[in-house]
Amino acid sequence: MTTCILGGGLAGLSAGLVLARAGQSVLVVEGDSAVGGLARTVARGAFRFDLGGHRFFTTDRRIEAFLRELMGEELARVARRSKILLGDTYFDYPLRPSKAIRGLGVAAAARMLSGYAIARLKSRVRDPRMISLEDWVVSRFGRSLFRAFFKGYSEKVWGIDCRRISAEWVEQRIQGLSLGAVIRNALFASSGKTVATLAGEFLYPALGIGRIADRLQEEIERDNRVRTGVRVERLAHRDGRIQSLTAIEGGRARVVEAEEFVSTIPLTSLVEMLQPGAPADVRAAASRLRYRDLVVVAVMLDRPRVTDQTWIYVPDPEVPFGRLHEPTNWSERMAPPGQTLLVTEHFCCRGDATWRARDEDLAERTVAHLARLGFISRREVIASAVVRVPRAYPLFEVGYREHHERICAYLGRFRNLEIAGRGGTFKYLNMDHAIAAGIDAAERILGRQGRERREDRGTPVLAGTAR
Ligand SMILES: Cc1cc2nc3c(=O)[nH]c(=O)nc-3n(C[C@H](O)[C@H](O)[C@H](O)COP(=O)(O)OP(=O)(O)OC[C@H]3O[C@@H](n4cnc5c(N)ncnc54)[C@H](O)[C@@H]3O)c2cc1C
Repeated sequence: MTTCILGGGLAGLSAGLVLARAGQSVLVVEGDSAVGGLARTVARGAFRFDLGGHRFFTTDRRIEAFLRELMGEELARVARRSKILLGDTYFDYPLRPSKAIRGLGVAAAARMLSGYAIARLKSRVRDPRMISLEDWVVSRFGRSLFRAFFKGYSEKVWGIDCRRISAEWVEQRIQGLSLGAVIRNALFASSGKTVATLAGEFLYPALGIGRIADRLQEEIERDNRVRTGVRVERLAHRDGRIQSLTAIEGGRARVVEAEEFVSTIPLTSLVEMLQPGAPADVRAAASRLRYRDLVVVAVMLDRPRVTDQTWIYVPDPEVPFGRLHEPTNWSERMAPPGQTLLVTEHFCCRGDATWRARDEDLAERTVAHLARLGFISRREVIASAVVRVPRAYPLFEVGYREHHERICAYLGRFRNLEIAGRGGTFKYLNMDHAIAAGIDAAERILGRQGRERREDRGTPVLAGTAR
C-alpha cells in the first residue's frame, strides 16, 4: 500500500514515520526546500533561529516517549523565564501578584480587583453571552484586566478587534495554555503556585527545534522517500476516493498515484486543489477562512548575551514586533561563541505593508526599536535575516465554525483522505498536538487496511463446522 503525504511539517512527517515503521510504502511531498514547516530552524552562517522560539512541552506521555525515542541525547531541559513589557515596566510572565500590583500602581490594581469581583458576581446571576474573545475575558476577569493584559497583545497577534475573534479560540487555547488561568494565577493566587501548563521547564534540541523534523526525515528515509521542493497543485478524485495528485517539481508537473492520502497543507488550499472542484458552498466556506501570517526578523549581535529570558512579549502597538526571543538562552549552540542574536515576530497579513516591506527596511525598523527599548546599541549589529512565514496561525473570526464544519463534512466523504496538522485541520495545535494528529491519521489508515484485509479474506469458517 502506498500513502502519499502532503506537507513535511511535524504532522506529515510523524504520520510518515508511523506508516513506514508499519512496513508501508510512504512518499512525503514538501513544497519548501527543507522539511519542518513552522517548526523549522533557519541557519545563517553559524547563527541559528526558529521561526519564533518553539518550546516542546506536552502532557501526553505517548508523545513525549515518541519524541525521546526519536531524539535521544539531543534533547535538553531548558528553564522557562518570560516577561511582558507593558509601558516601561517588565512584568514576570506568568505574572506574580505582588510585583504586578506594585508595577501597576495601587489605583489601577484596585480597579482591576473590583472589576474582577463584579464580573464573577454577574456570571453567577446570569449566563453571559460568549461570542467573542472580549466577551469571554471580560465576563471572567472584568474590563480593566482585559484592557491591561489581554487586548493589546491579542489584537497585535490577530490583527482584528477582540470583538471579532471567536470565543472558541480561547476554548481551544485552553487545552494547551490558559491565559485566563495565567491572569487569575497571577493576580489572585496567594500560594505562588503556577498552573500546570506553565511549568517552568521545556524540552529543546541543542541545534534548534528543526532537528525534530530532520530526525523524522532521516528515519523515514531508511526505506522510503521525503521529497522537498515539490509543490502540490491539484488532487484528482472519483467516486469518493482521491486518485492522484499533480505537483510541480523543478518547473515540471509530476503526477503521483497512491492508495491513501494524508493532507497537512492548509485546509483552504486543499479545497481549492480538488478536481472536479468542490461544490460552490464548500468553496465559498473555504474563501471565508483566513490565516494570519508572520515575518520573522533576526538581528545578529557581536556581544555574548542581551537578556536572560525565554520570550519577551511586547503588546505596545507602536512597536512593530509582538514578541522576541534570544535563541542562545534556549541553547548555547544557536550562535558562535561570544555572539548572540535577537529574533522578533512581526504579525501581519500576506500582502500588507509589513509583508511587502523590503528586508533592509524591516531590519532597520527592528534595530531602531530594539535600540530604543534599550536592548541593543547599533554598533553591536553584525547582520540581519528576514523570513516570511505564510499561514502561521489559523484565524478564528466570529462565525468561522460554520464554514469549518461545512468543509470538514465535505472532505469527510473521501474514503482514502486523512487531514491532520495545524493548518491542515484549521485548529490551534501546538507541536505535540500536531505530532499526535499525524500519528492518529497514520493509525486510522493502518486500522482501515487491517479491516479491508479481513473483509477480503471473507468470513472465517470455524474448523470442524459440519455443513
Ligand atoms: C510563531 C510560532 C511559535 C510557535 N511556538 C510553539 C511552541 O513554542 N511550542 C509548540 O508546541 N508549538 C508552537 N507553535 C506551533 C507549531 O509550529 C505547530 O503546531 C507545528 O509546527 C505544526 O506542524 P504541522 O505539520 O501541523 O504544520 P506545518 O508546520 O504548517 O506543516 C505543513 C507543511 O506543508 C507544506 N505545504 C503547504 N502547502 C504545500 C503544497 N501545496 N505542497 C507541498 N507542501 C505544502 C508547508 O511548507 C509545511 O512544511 C508555534 C507556531 C508559530 C507560528
